[in-house]
Amino acid sequence: MAAPKVAVVGAGVIGLSTALCITETCPSCSVTVLSDQFSPNTTSDVAAGMLIPHTYPGACNSKQWFKETFTFLFAISNSPEASEAGIHLVSGWQVFKNTPKEELPFWSDVVLGFRPMSEAELQKFPQHRFGQAFTTLKCDCPPYLLWLEKRLKATGVQMHTRKVADLWDLHSEYNVVVNCAGIGAHQLVGDEKLFPVRGQVLKVHAPWVKNFIRDGDGSTYIYPGIHRQLVPLQMLGGISPGFQLPPWKGMMG
Ligand SMILES: Cc1cc2nc3c(=O)[nH]c(=O)nc-3n(C[C@H](O)[C@H](O)[C@H](O)COP(=O)(O)OP(=O)(O)OC[C@H]3O[C@@H](n4cnc5c(N)ncnc54)[C@H](O)[C@@H]3O)c2cc1C
Repeated sequence: MAAPKVAVVGAGVIGLSTALCITETCPSCSVTVLSDQFSPNTTSDVAAGMLIPHTYPGACNSKQWFKETFTFLFAISNSPEASEAGIHLVSGWQVFKNTPKEELPFWSDVVLGFRPMSEAELQKFPQHRFGQAFTTLKCDCPPYLLWLEKRLKATGVQMHTRKVADLWDLHSEYNVVVNCAGIGAHQLVGDEKLFPVRGQVLKVHAPWVKNFIRDGDGSTYIYPGIHRQLVPLQMLGGISPGFQLPPWKGMMG
């Protein structure tokens, strides 16, 4: 039987990770990544890359997904590949103005050293009443995407620049098509649940910042930069959940 032909649509962190996973679990598969943009022009390239999951009601596999992702990336962070792949451990605090309903998040036993902050620690954050300290992983996406691309090319995966207008267009060429189009899936498969929200991220030169500080609702944060960079840049971020960008359909075209 001929090797199954697999097309992965999208070259962000999901598409490249998926392509790698397929080649590793099915070495006989012939895998091709089709994407209209590659690094550095994907959303993944601008992600802070912190592994701190959100809680989504009804998402039943969240813990398993997070655990597997953490285990996979933790192994890289402990290997000689860590620097090239841009994966490293980072410690810090998540602070809350009000005690959250979920004091022990589902991911608390996956990250390292999760514990509630002491009163003495909280005094350093006078506007906050509750906090959690832990160590997690940070995935610096620009080097990670390049690292993934390098591994994929070494295993013979083809990468083509192509905008896919309709997944059915791939029907005659491929046996399996995997949609990893990110926000592009709104147009590609009419996924109305996907839309961009407004946010602001500043990158500043503050090499003394070694730990993350994150507001518990996830909307504002300070994340330390990558120390192997000549000029480490810290990310200051803020998003307004649910604040849809008007008129975003024009922007996506
Ligand atoms: C400022 C910012 C900070 C963030 N911080 C974090 C964080 O700390 N932690 C975290 O976990 N997440 C974070 N995120 C979210 C994270 O960036 C995304 O969840 C992730 O990058 C999505 O990856 P993706 O591969 O699904 O999508 P993308 O990176 O958008 O990749 C989609 C790919 O599909 C391609 N594509 C789309 N449509 C088509 C088409 N029709 N035909 C061909 N190709 C197509 C695109 O060109 C692209 O290559 C952040 C996001 C932003 C914007």
